[in-house]
Amino acid sequence: RALLKLERASRNLDMALRAMTQGLALFDAQYRLLLVNERFLEIFDLSEDAFRAKLSAQDVEDLIAKQIAATPDLKHHFAAVELFGRHLGRLFTQAEPVSGEDTFGDRIISFTHVITGEGGWVTTVEDVTERRAQEARLAYLSRFDALTGLPNRAQFNDRLSLDLAWAADNGIKLAAIGLDLNQFKEINDQRGHSAGDAVLVEIGRRLESAAQDGEFVGRIGGDEYCALKKFRLQTEVGEFLGRLERCFQAPIRVEENDISVSVSIGVAIYPDDAVDAEQLVNNADLAKYRAKRSVTQNVCFYEADMDEASRERRTMARDLWDALEREECHLTYQVQKNIRSRETIGYEALIRWTHPMRGAIPPDVFIPIAEECGAILPIGRWVLKRACADAVAWSDDLRVAVNLSPVQIANDDIVKLVHETLLESGLAPQRLELEITESTIIGDKAHALHVLRQLNALGITVALDDFGTGYSSLDTLNSFPFDKIKIDRSFLSEAEETEDSRAIVKAVVALGRSLDVPVLAEGVETAGQLSILEEEGCQEAQGFLFGRPARLTGEEVLKSIGRGA
Ligand code: C2E
Ligand code: CA
Ligand code: CA
Repeated sequence: RALLKLERASRNLDMALRAMTQGLALFDAQYRLLLVNERFLEIFDLSEDAFRAKLSAQDVEDLIAKQIAATPDLKHHFAAVELFGRHLGRLFTQAEPVSGEDTFGDRIISFTHVITGEGGWVTTVEDVTERRAQEARLAYLSRFDALTGLPNRAQFNDRLSLDLAWAADNGIKLAAIGLDLNQFKEINDQRGHSAGDAVLVEIGRRLESAAQDGEFVGRIGGDEYCALKKFRLQTEVGEFLGRLERCFQAPIRVEENDISVSVSIGVAIYPDDAVDAEQLVNNADLAKYRAKRSVTQNVCFYEADMDEASRERRTMARDLWDALEREECHLTYQVQKNIRSRETIGYEALIRWTHPMRGAIPPDVFIPIAEECGAILPIGRWVLKRACADAVAWSDDLRVAVNLSPVQIANDDIVKLVHETLLESGLAPQRLELEITESTIIGDKAHALHVLRQLNALGITVALDDFGTGYSSLDTLNSFPFDKIKIDRSFLSEAEETEDSRAIVKAVVALGRSLDVPVLAEGVETAGQLSILEEEGCQEAQGFLFGRPARLTGEEVLKSIGRGA
């Protein structure tokens, strides 16, 4: 029975040893090998024959050493031999398990030696090569951007805190630099994602080679890169920025196409602009947004007043998107008069926004924000539809003037929108006038001209708003088919006092006459201003003298022109 029991026990042991994923070798007090499993042989690429006899630890070492010698590329790796020899002394003196990792050829072996009761020991070994490689891959991926191979955001953050501490300790400065590609989305949309990726990779490559010792560049998101530069003199930052900017000079060749990429760069400096890493990055972002908005500057440095202003703009932009849905907007109308007959010729629609917390916000404040964030498109559509619907209830010969933002002309299908709106509302086309400013035309002249011609063809009229401010070129007037010129109100407010302003009013009226286009003077507040306009032969006027912008019902309009009930 005892024999049977023993047999069963040894069979169980055998099965257990075979099932182990670790290699195992049991040695007695005389360093002789008592037991070894298949996995152990496998790991060291040893044959089972070699282990038939009872081997001493020395024999095992020799065997493994022979194995190494037989495999040329393992010749210099005696690590596996040391696996036994090196650790045993430690094992027996400290009488505690010894474990660690060693390389065996191109393999990484983790091992543990444990003393057994009889003065021998057990060695377990495991091949952890794959696991370590996997870990290294993950560690790499967690620190580098997979597409460009540049350091990623995590590494940027680590480097930032190191550099920041270094700068603080050594009394030097640190520039945090954010770079954002302009119109990258268009590259992706128009040329496909693989072209977009190629651009990102090439920019990454250029930035990396632009960086010198001690400078850092990384990629922290879609089309966003970052850089860090420790410095003493401001000129050093300027020089670095110059190198970064030059990375965007040459177009990028992708599949036979040259793609030009421009960039917006924001810079914030420790300790001037921030006390810690978070604030530094935040402020570099703010500077970057300013660079994005600016037409003339690619590089902006953080300035303290950006902070508050931009925070406010961002919250306002967010609220603007909901303003229409929450019915916070309404239209007011300001009357436009014929100067000679004093008859009402129409009304200009002017939008009003009542913010739930801040109350009334003037259009001069929120329209630019709406243009920047794109909310001007739904808002502009709403204004046009509302104004046309309102005007239908007025008298047949009154016109409604609606302001169009340059952003709408550039990004919306205005012609289709106007056409639809006229059909929906039933308003006669000649009763709709669109007011646009010169900045509309400055951007894409050909597109603007094309749109204006199509609008003309629909039968509506187009007025040039705010004339005399900004660009004011005769060229604009000559090449575009305007039906009216509106002199900016800033000239009227000064016309009574300064000869210059009066001279401009006179010149614009003369210009209008020569082009056979009527001129409307904006911002007429006093009888004195009105008589100047009369003397100069200006045809139309609008201003507080005749009426402030106000909510207006159809009945009120009819009453005001003497046709009401
Ligand atoms: P704008 O097109 O030049 O509109 C005329 C502005 O002058 C209006 O300011 C009006 O209230 C003001 N105004 C009229 N008469 C007088 C006067 O006698 N004296 C003075 N001091 N001001 C006068 P508002 O309503 O604040 O609008 C400001 C600007 O916001 C508009 O200038 C226009 O550029 C823009 N805006 C207003 N509504 C819309 C809209 O629906 N769409 C777009 N895209 N822009 C709009
Ligand atoms: Ca206007
Ligand atoms: Ca105006």
